[in-house]
Amino acid sequence: MERIVYLDNAATTKPFDEVCKIFCDCQTNFYNPSALYDVAVSTKKKIESARTHIAELLGGENGRIVFTSGATEADNMALNIVKFREGKDLVVSVGEHPAIYEKAKQMERTGVKVLYIPLDSNGRVDINALDNIITKNTLLVSVMMVSNETGAINDIKSITKKAKQINPNILVHVDGVQAVGKIKIDLMDLGVDLFTISAHKIHGPKGIGALWVKDKINIVPTIYGGGQENGYRSGTENVAGILAFDYALTKVVKDLKENLKKVENQRNVLLNQLNLHGISYKLNSSDSPYILSLSIPGLRGEVLVHSLEKYKIYLSTGSACSSKKPDNRTMIAIGRTPEEIKGTIRISFSAYEEYDMQEVGTTIAKEILLLQKKIKGIKNE
Ligand code: PLP
Repeated sequence: MERIVYLDNAATTKPFDEVCKIFCDCQTNFYNPSALYDVAVSTKKKIESARTHIAELLGGENGRIVFTSGATEADNMALNIVKFREGKDLVVSVGEHPAIYEKAKQMERTGVKVLYIPLDSNGRVDINALDNIITKNTLLVSVMMVSNETGAINDIKSITKKAKQINPNILVHVDGVQAVGKIKIDLMDLGVDLFTISAHKIHGPKGIGALWVKDKINIVPTIYGGGQENGYRSGTENVAGILAFDYALTKVVKDLKENLKKVENQRNVLLNQLNLHGISYKLNSSDSPYILSLSIPGLRGEVLVHSLEKYKIYLSTGSACSSKKPDNRTMIAIGRTPEEIKGTIRISFSAYEEYDMQEVGTTIAKEILLLQKKIKGIKNE
């Protein structure tokens, strides 16, 4: 296979070889975990052990894992649990992934009052703004831990503490999709009530994610049927997905420190090449080394994405979900102009993919310079 340079790991990651093996094995051990005979019972046991293990890996022994089809479903499930009544509101940040933001919009259309927390110029949730937004009437606040667009990292412990100081009954939901495996997660220490994770962002398979739910919090079933997932989400379990998710999470948690160093190095070498070639840019966040979001003047992000295809270098303009929408609300929230938004690119790294970043950085830099010249030429015609 031709060598590709895959730098869009915030969109999805290449499954580990072992993940693929687990998938194949599960086609031979294909039994329905709800059946009564021994092989099915042993499959059920494996699922339950993965459930416990995943909670442990996240420091969430004081809660339970509900497996879902991915983070989008888990995010929606989290917002569905609260029974909103008149005078009770929902708070989300303006930088949330569409899985939260669009769900909040849909709830707004049904009459729920939704309040939006602004971002500061670093792309983080503005903690000071919480004083005016969270009240005794707020039932739930949802904030992501790491932005999929900019890599900005929110201080979840402080946000949770502040929210619960203002309103001790509030529930805190965190979309941890881009944080898991990259930042040490200790759910008990963070003090959150609900936490979303997804497997395909950590070299696991697509189609599997989970919502961690703190003990004593009752969630509302979203899918009714045979009563799987303790009745919260019916449907025959995605056995292969669950077991492979557990494997991938175990690996990334174990390699976390070492991976951070590798990724920091990749990012620095690449950025250094852009600097050496005189590329000017605005860095949209310097929080997470895994996501490098740059706004480059005189460039069109999507034109660069396509022009790099000939080198088999794959990166992105923003999040995979919003890359087709120029009205990027996260970028607007951090003060980027329409021109800067059009010139935004996102390079997202993985410690498990190693490339000659000097060479890659040089190729990207040269292509940027070429496109800037062309775009300037077109403007001057
Ligand atoms: N939340 C965040 C922060 C994400 O980055 C993504 C994926 O892009 C999702 C939610 C949705 O994840 P999934 O593809 O598992 O539904």
